[in-house]
Amino acid sequence: AHEGILRRQSLRESAARTYARSLPIVPVRARGLTIEGADGRRYLDCLSGAGTLALGHNHPVVLEAIKKVIDSGAPLHVLDLATPVKDAFTTELFATLPPGLADNARVQFCGPAGTDAVEAALKLVRTATGRSGMLAFTGAYHGMTEGALAASGGAPDVRVTRLPYPQEYRCPFGVGGERGAELSARWTESLLDDPKSGVAPPAGMILEPVQGEGGVIPAPDDWLRRMRRITEDRSIPLIADEVQTGVGRTGTFWAVEHSGIVPDVMVLSKAIGGSLPLAVVVYRSELDAWEPGAHAGTFRGNQLAMAAGAATLGYVRENRLAERAATLGTRMLGRLQGLAADHLSIGDVRGKGLMIGIELVDPEAEDLTAPGPAPADPALAAAVQRECLDRGLIVELGGRHSSVVRLLPPLTITDEQAEAVLDRLADALTAAER
Ligand code: PMP
Repeated sequence: AHEGILRRQSLRESAARTYARSLPIVPVRARGLTIEGADGRRYLDCLSGAGTLALGHNHPVVLEAIKKVIDSGAPLHVLDLATPVKDAFTTELFATLPPGLADNARVQFCGPAGTDAVEAALKLVRTATGRSGMLAFTGAYHGMTEGALAASGGAPDVRVTRLPYPQEYRCPFGVGGERGAELSARWTESLLDDPKSGVAPPAGMILEPVQGEGGVIPAPDDWLRRMRRITEDRSIPLIADEVQTGVGRTGTFWAVEHSGIVPDVMVLSKAIGGSLPLAVVVYRSELDAWEPGAHAGTFRGNQLAMAAGAATLGYVRENRLAERAATLGTRMLGRLQGLAADHLSIGDVRGKGLMIGIELVDPEAEDLTAPGPAPADPALAAAVQRECLDRGLIVELGGRHSSVVRLLPPLTITDEQAEAVLDRLADALTAAER
C-alpha cells in the first residue's frame, strides 16, 4: 500500500507539494510525537504540522473534546452564529491573551487558514486608519494569498515597504548584535519621518516575534520594544503574527510576552485549532471600525476546531507547557551548541523555546577575508533531512536558502524523546557530511 499510495499521489498531485515529495511517508496512525507509516515504520515527528500540534498527534483531551461535540448532536457548521462551543473557545482564548490586550479585545473569526487571518488583519488596520501602505520585514512569512485582496477588486492598492529584520547571524547590515538592531530601528524611523523617503504614513506594521519559515530568527526584545514605541508614537497599528509562535511554542504563551510589548492586533492560527483549521484576529476594540459583513468567510466558525482549540489552550495553560517549552528548549539548544562545536558545517544554532533552527553552511566555501558567515548549504540541509528520515526522524527545512533544519516538536515531548531526537539528528549530520 505504501509504495502504491506514494506513486499515485505523486502522479496526481501538483508538483507544488514539494516538502511532501521530500518526505516519502504514508502516515496511517499517530500519537504524541510518533507517526506510524503504512510500511510499519515509526517516526519521531518534529515537524508537527509546522508547529500546529502543540500537544502532539491525537492528544486524548483533544480527541475527547471533538467527540463530545459530535456526541452532543450540536451543529457542526453555523457560520458566525453564537454557540456554547464558540463561547467556550472565546472564553479560553481571552483567558490566555497578554495583559493589556485581554481587557479590551475583540476577536474576529476568519476563514480556516492563517493566511486568511493575516488578510483580515491587513484589511482591518487599513479600514481603521484610512491609510493603505504596510510595513513588513525581510525574511517574513505571512501566508500564500498575497494579491487575493487586490484580485478581488475594491481593495486599495497595497504598497508594502520592506524593512530589515534584525538578525545576529546574517545581519542585513553586516554588524550583528545590538548594533544591527539599532540600525534596523533607525532605518525604520528615518523612512517614516523623512518626507523625502517617499513612504506615506502606513496603515500598519506586521511582524513575527520569531520568524519561523524565514529560518527561526528570534527578534531581540529591545528591538521589539523599540518597534512598539516607533509605531505607537506615530499612531501606526502594530500587528503581531503569532500564527507559528503562539500557544506556548516559544516559552511564553504568546511570543510577544518575552518583550512585554502589547500589539494592537494579533493574528493567530495553527495551534489554536488543536490540529483542526482555525484562524482568528484579535485586536484592540478601538480598531473595530469595519462595517458588518466587511470580512466574511464560509468556514469561519468551525465547531470541531473550536472545541479542539479550547481543549488545547486550556491544557497548555493549566499544565504550564510554555514554561516546559522554555526549560526543555534551553537544554536542547545547549546540546546543539555542543554539536556545533564539533561540526564546522553548523553555522548557527538558535531559537526560543521549542522553536529551534540549525543553520547549515559550507565552511570550505567561506571567504575568510570577507565579513559575515560562510555561505548557506541547502544541499547539506536536504541530505540531513534525508538521513534523519532514514533514522526515523522528521524535520523541516526553512530559511531563505532552505539551509536551516527546523525542530518544532510538540510541547508534550518528554526529556527522553528530546534526547532521542538529538541523537538521531547528530548521527544524520555525521552521515550527511560524508
Ligand atoms: N504566518 C506565519 C507566521 C506562518 O508561519 C504561516 C504558515 N507557516 C502563516 C502565517 C500562514 O498560515 P497558513 O499556512 O495557515 O495560511
